[in-house]
Amino acid sequence: MKNVPHNVYIHVPYCKSKCNYCAFFSHACAKPDWEKYCNDICAEINYWGQKLGNITIPTIFFGGGTPSLMPTTVFEKIINTIKNNFQLETDTEITVESNPATIDFDKLKDFKSIGANRISIGIQSLDDKRLQFLGRKHTANDALQLIEYTNKLNLRTSADFIYGLPNDTVQDIIKMCTDINSLGLTHCSLYELTIEKGTPFGTMNLKMPSNTEMADMYNAIEKNLNLPRYEVSNYAMSGFECKHNQNVWDGKPYIGIGQGAAGRVYINNIWYEQMGNYAQFEKISDSTRAIEQVITGMRTIHGCQLTDTIKNVIDMDWAISNPDLIKIENERIATTKKGMLILDEIIVNLVK
Ligand code: SF4
Repeated sequence: MKNVPHNVYIHVPYCKSKCNYCAFFSHACAKPDWEKYCNDICAEINYWGQKLGNITIPTIFFGGGTPSLMPTTVFEKIINTIKNNFQLETDTEITVESNPATIDFDKLKDFKSIGANRISIGIQSLDDKRLQFLGRKHTANDALQLIEYTNKLNLRTSADFIYGLPNDTVQDIIKMCTDINSLGLTHCSLYELTIEKGTPFGTMNLKMPSNTEMADMYNAIEKNLNLPRYEVSNYAMSGFECKHNQNVWDGKPYIGIGQGAAGRVYINNIWYEQMGNYAQFEKISDSTRAIEQVITGMRTIHGCQLTDTIKNVIDMDWAISNPDLIKIENERIATTKKGMLILDEIIVNLVK
């Protein structure tokens, strides 16, 4: 039996330095051991090749950390190893998360010729003071230059931003949206700053905006950004959504490769949870997987398809009796705009 297509996530855990808010699995490293990293990643890919057979790969996402720090030779070897084990489609989406000032035009051009077709840039802000406060090691100009490079190379480009810093007002966020609009992006992600334990911000007792202020900023983004929202924090022109994330949110299988990368693989009609270490994965029931699918699917404006397995794990009566929060159309269930603002509460009530 041939297994179904799987998306691939590859984690690159190295950064130039650690940002003040960051709790991702990444560490500052001046000279990563790229040879060891590459060998480990390729060994994992070969392992999955044997396990899953010659399946199709709709998307590959290099996340981090800072994948743009990867030497071209490492990127090339990883892509070739994937090609040796699996089938790529003509339009397989290959995204590389990149930070300004970590990749120059020539390297970006090489990444493109090897297969990268989408660059997700960690810009975070177009204001140098805010960048400094966040502990970013690049300037707004560095970011503009990287966008210029990706445009010149005709690469699909996305950019990440952070809002809701201490003292932020709705006016600040409207200005931020106007600046973002001027970049002419087809995709961007705007994340609310959250203070995590174990980060420099976690020790600073920062006075953060209240929940109401955050909600006002969130609504201001939807009104002022010229890209429509398609997930809680993601905005795109129609047809430019991130295929990789969309597939993961839709509950499609994905392999996590690299230290700290999680996955959900589907072998011979059985779901497995793969957490952190590729050789350790555990069977999960169809209903557990369906609950995960509801949790991620409800984050998107398309919601989830109401299959029998999904119907078995949700409280349909509650959903039907809350039309201001939940909409049910064409055998799909999704949150309304109002519901999107209280997603956690919705999930608690919706999932049985
Ligand atoms: S560059 Fe990204 S992954 Fe690295 S420390 Fe900063 S936020 Fe974290």
